Amino acid sequence: MIKGQCLCGKVQYIYHGDLEKSILCYCKHCQLAQGGFAAWNSPIPLENFELISGEDVLKSYFHTELKARVFCGECGSPLYSHRLDLPGVIRLRLGSVVEGKIPPPYEEFFQEYKPNFIETIHS
Ligand SMILES: [Zn+2]
Ligand SMILES: [Zn+2]
Repeated sequence: MIKGQCLCGKVQYIYHGDLEKSILCYCKHCQLAQGGFAAWNSPIPLENFELISGEDVLKSYFHTELKARVFCGECGSPLYSHRLDLPGVIRLRLGSVVEGKIPPPYEEFFQEYKPNFIETIHS
């Protein structure tokens, strides 16, 4: 089981399951959205994701037509993304996890945007 939240704590969630994999995405959209060098994500089935609180403050931003980036409207923490053409799956932002085990990234996307001070995970 995984527990997570946003920075201000208004949004709280539980994922009823284990995270099977995590990925790093260095694409420019993720960098802009996270304010960091990568997004650290894990795809999970929506049916096992339970929002405990904060539904009223959650906001969705569509930078592209099909992909929503969901964040806390109070503190701005990125929480997950989802695609309209891929219902049933959300991509959890793993920096929001406060309890539970996160597997190390098995894949890195858009390495052309990866800062050269970050070591490659799979060499
Ligand atoms: Zn918040
Ligand atoms: Zn990305």
